[in-house]
Amino acid sequence: MSPFENQVAIVTGAGRGIGEAIAKRLAQGGAGVAVVSRTESNSARVAAEINALRAGAARPYAVDVSDFDAVQAIGEQILGDFGRCDHLVNNAGITRDTLAMRMGSEDWDAVLQTNLKGAFNFTRAVLRAMVKQRTGRIINISSVSGLMGLAGQANYAASKAGLVGMSKSIAREVASRGITVNVVAPGFIETDMTSVLNAEVREGARAQIPLARFGAVDDIASTVEFLCGPGAAYITGQVLAVDGGMSM
Ligand code: NAD
Repeated sequence: MSPFENQVAIVTGAGRGIGEAIAKRLAQGGAGVAVVSRTESNSARVAAEINALRAGAARPYAVDVSDFDAVQAIGEQILGDFGRCDHLVNNAGITRDTLAMRMGSEDWDAVLQTNLKGAFNFTRAVLRAMVKQRTGRIINISSVSGLMGLAGQANYAASKAGLVGMSKSIAREVASRGITVNVVAPGFIETDMTSVLNAEVREGARAQIPLARFGAVDDIASTVEFLCGPGAAYITGQVLAVDGGMSM
């Protein structure tokens, strides 16, 4: 079955980790995929792997999502290359963890600009096209940290909580145009982002997870696939936590 045949998805931060899994999952479902990453070689690798399975399904793009003008330009390029955009998955994100008492202004700005402004920048770049099409799905990847707060993550939690408010506001603005906006809030997922955590932090995290394990990138990809699919047409402005029960 190809639920996304003739549809186009943009996935940011798709050069590795969760974004890579989402891009591949939507491509498997038949979508054309704009693989967006900051690092050209990463998006090129992921696009090539998708194209090896279905020639022409993916195209790579490199941009810093925090750069408003550059994102508007890439958005236009993607819309020109693919002709439309049905799904936008704002997944690019970074951490700069430290206690608030020690947090520098650069650590604050970098995280807010990538995680929150980056999602706004890409939404802004495609929203007009979605409104014209009268259809579209926007999925913003938040975090359990934005729902519960986590020590050492004042900047990250603020950016991820900000995504929730932004998503609900935009969901209200565009619902009448057939566009939905939802949030996926992963818990601890095995990726490069969490591989830097030391054994003590990992054990501490695991102890807070009712399902007692970290999740896999495919747990997030399957949730995004659902939210982009026909079964989720009546869901908007919602936050779906995929966290082994951590934030319940
Ligand atoms: P990752 O570090 O493995 O990948 C992040 C991707 O985002 C990379 O491809 C990176 O190049 C890209 N990126 C970062 N800054 C960018 C920028 N300015 N412009 C363009 N691309 C940029 O991380 P991941 O674990 O795959 O996380 C993906 C998303 O899921 C992030 O938003 C993260 O905050 C969120 N998340 C992850 C976890 C987890 O446990 N791994 C938990 C909750 C939420």
